[in-house]
Amino acid sequence: MKITALKTFVVPPRWLFLKVETDEGLFGWGEPVLEGHAETLAAKIHELETFLIGRDPMLIEDTWQMIYRNGCYRGGPVLMSAMSGVDMALWDIKGKAYGQPVHALMGGKVRDRIRSYRWIGGDRPDNLIAEAKDLMAAGYNACKFNATEELQYIDSFAKVDAIVARISALRDAVGTDLDLALDFHGRVHAPMARILLKELEPVRPIFVEDAVVSAHIGAMADLARETSIPLCIGERLHSRYDFREVFEKRAAGIINPDTAHVGGISEMVRIGHMAEAYDIPIAPHCPLGPIALAACLQVDAICYNAVIQEQSLGIHYNQGGDLNDYLRPESRFKVEDGFLPIPQGPGLGIEVDEDVVQDRARIGHNWRAPVWRHADGSIADW
Ligand SMILES: [Mg+2]
Repeated sequence: MKITALKTFVVPPRWLFLKVETDEGLFGWGEPVLEGHAETLAAKIHELETFLIGRDPMLIEDTWQMIYRNGCYRGGPVLMSAMSGVDMALWDIKGKAYGQPVHALMGGKVRDRIRSYRWIGGDRPDNLIAEAKDLMAAGYNACKFNATEELQYIDSFAKVDAIVARISALRDAVGTDLDLALDFHGRVHAPMARILLKELEPVRPIFVEDAVVSAHIGAMADLARETSIPLCIGERLHSRYDFREVFEKRAAGIINPDTAHVGGISEMVRIGHMAEAYDIPIAPHCPLGPIALAACLQVDAICYNAVIQEQSLGIHYNQGGDLNDYLRPESRFKVEDGFLPIPQGPGLGIEVDEDVVQDRARIGHNWRAPVWRHADGSIADW
């Protein structure tokens, strides 16, 4: 079998899909997206045609190593997100070739379903209680939200008090029926993160994500020693090499690598197994589209230490298109009792509706992260 074409589709709300075709009629889908950089990733995928057209798609690991080790420059968000989409698509092809789900080819599933959660509250946390109650009515028992708006390196206790009051009110409203994951989203700096983690311990979050931005693994490790809240990091790390320091410095109690940003299913499984050796669970990051989520579910099937799966059904980003819009009815995602089932179909286990993909690609998108500024006019981390 030989790869004959790499086709990319920029589709709403902010995604990029990849279809890898072969000379035997089999094809696979991947999602090589980096949010806010979809056109760049499409260009990167087409650069990879040089290496991929004419290759045997079954040689997944050799392809991974060839792309990763080619030339001087390794890793990083662009290359590894492109690689992620290719890796997902090749696993999809291999699974279809053998008539088996990806997890069956990687050792077999260790679970039938995975607990799942999604965002509430938007970019600036708002309307948390109402959205939390809607989520609970839909069967969820966990959610995540931004803990704060923009915050200066050193900010006021008026803001700290407002943050604690907002989250405490949510905890009072939902009791212990809904687990709360908080995202500091890299918008909090180390001095304020230390204060907030202490103040927020009484609301008992299941984890705090990106307590400081992931460039500061050392600061994260310092914070981890001071709090009982599990600290989570990973959405902005891009390979097992990036995660090594997190493990060695004991900087995290849980990690959230993104199957669409770390080099695909192959690298996610490696990172998951590395984490297991440190008694660290994984909670795959996925505020992305249906192909990325299907790839995550294959990882969740294989990694014993996968504890909860993020997904974006109905979240604030999904204007103009949601996950299930792009899938045939029989393979649409459905959360039941707070769990997502592990897909059992061949490959990634989903049936992408290519007619819809082509239609929506004519609309495309121009999604960009917002630009925020502090009161003094300086740029604020989003
Ligand atoms: Mg995050």
